[in-house]
Amino acid sequence: MTSPTPPITRFAPSPTGALHIGHGWSALLAHDVARAQGGQFRLRIEDIDGARSRPEHVAGILHDLDWLGLVPDGPVVMQSERLPLYRAAVERLAGDGLAYPCFCTRADIARQIAASASAPHGPPTADSPDGAPYPGTCAHLSPDERARRIAAGEAHAWRLAMARGAARAGPLAWTDMDRGEIIADALPFGDIVLARKDAPGSYHLCATMDDAAMASHVVRGTDLRPATHVHRLLQALLGLPTPLYRFHGLLLDADGRRLAKRSGGLSLAELRAAGQAPERLVADLRAGRFPVGIHVG
Ligand code: GLU
Repeated sequence: MTSPTPPITRFAPSPTGALHIGHGWSALLAHDVARAQGGQFRLRIEDIDGARSRPEHVAGILHDLDWLGLVPDGPVVMQSERLPLYRAAVERLAGDGLAYPCFCTRADIARQIAASASAPHGPPTADSPDGAPYPGTCAHLSPDERARRIAAGEAHAWRLAMARGAARAGPLAWTDMDRGEIIADALPFGDIVLARKDAPGSYHLCATMDDAAMASHVVRGTDLRPATHVHRLLQALLGLPTPLYRFHGLLLDADGRRLAKRSGGLSLAELRAAGQAPERLVADLRAGRFPVGIHVG
């Protein structure tokens, strides 16, 4: 697909481990979509998870991309430097009546879901692509109770009032570069988290805002195809542009398992240490030639 203006793509790893060959492939695909049309390839570090993100993994990502010759354009975007923007977006949605504080712990939510699963009708939308959706407990708190608990310093996340948001946005679609127009349906996800107890943004919110700010084309794994329904809705509610999307299969090992960040011998750093020539690796990945047993799922 050609675009009127050169595409800007992005690679958006989380610095929670070493990149493996699947990440290298994903970065290469995003890079090539941009460079084939004279566009830009950008890098975003998704480091909002302060507990799991590590500076040494950020350094490793930069080194790996440099080694592969996939040098990003423009400044590297660090999510940890954009926290006030995420916070402001949540405040805006709350001000529009589309977000509410949620005081539930993970254990509370598991109990609520288990209780509704054993009810005669079962949980209402257990087939949510995100796992069982939040049962909506805190959606029913009164404004006074919310204010009182927040004032008392009780830890809380912020959730999207999904049904209200979807109704407010009306019909939505996005363009998959390979499949054409896709009708967006975020409702099955339920009231997704916008801001976590320990971070002012969730993956859904931060990725949506950052893609709008830095990319025209989002090239990412098929595991994130379902999340795009949510991202399209957030774009509509926040007045953000919608990029074009392309999804690539994930690299699986011989047993059909997704490569993990600790996948023996297949991290880019291990391949480098083993003397792998990067030009050869890039040429192989471009041609769809993967190490023995590794295949696209
Ligand atoms: N940070 C995500 C990951 O490492 C990718 C997010 C995205 O491409 O939208 O899986």
